Amino acid sequence: MSGIGDRPEMPEVETVVRELVASGLPGLKLTEMRVLWPKIVMGDEPEWFANKLSNQNLQRIGRRGKHILFYFSEDLVSVHLRMTGQFEFCDKDSSVLRHQHVLMDFEDGRQLRYKDTRKFGRFMRLQSENDLELGPEAWDMDLNALALKDILGRGLRAIKATLLDQSRISGLGNIYVDESLFYAGIHPQRPTESLSLSELELLLTAMRKALNIGLNNLGTTLGTGEANFYSVNGRAGRNQDSLMVFRRTGLPCFVCSSPVVKITVAQRSTHFCGVCQK
Ligand SMILES: [Zn+2]
Repeated sequence: MSGIGDRPEMPEVETVVRELVASGLPGLKLTEMRVLWPKIVMGDEPEWFANKLSNQNLQRIGRRGKHILFYFSEDLVSVHLRMTGQFEFCDKDSSVLRHQHVLMDFEDGRQLRYKDTRKFGRFMRLQSENDLELGPEAWDMDLNALALKDILGRGLRAIKATLLDQSRISGLGNIYVDESLFYAGIHPQRPTESLSLSELELLLTAMRKALNIGLNNLGTTLGTGEANFYSVNGRAGRNQDSLMVFRRTGLPCFVCSSPVVKITVAQRSTHFCGVCQK
């Protein structure tokens, strides 16, 4: 599994969605859309795509897993930010910068631009949310340990790999899986089928805890590199200061003081406490 598409995770994407909703976009007509980097659009010819959406009303903005969903009057559009995608409001008369690839003019005069330095992000029209083939959201309150056992399946695959699989459970990537497994006291290499019902109960609570902390901190922004999370108009998250194990290799565990260990699981760097996680 590659890291592309892993980030941003649910707390970051939900933060973007909430900011776009708070900006008052829902209810407005998209008067014109222009796509400057054709590969950003999947499945449709980009100019056709832009013309199809132009003059539609943006009724709602939502989220499923790590996808932002734009519900237009006739079309549903998914946007996956994949590493460096960002939205920003710009003066429509300002010059278009190098990494701004999609321009969206709204009827109130504002222009929303999609910027993406690495250009991995994708816009795609969907028939329905089911096209995304995502498992349930980790914080879906209908989930319980028994249902989770069914969803994660039987198998010897490491629990970390299973939790990264969006078709099993959606919203978590490398950061929040490591954090969830720490809160649950579960070793990331444990075979999925070895987890008992009481451990799955702990895991469910732990996933909700890790995601909620991330969301309350408006997402995780690591370091200063370009492959970083910034929400609308470049706002950074604060969750990097609340992480228990992720990118804390060699630092003392906050619970038992033994050093946090880094290994590779599912081809991803994985951080855990060898004493607290069994
Ligand atoms: Zn520990």
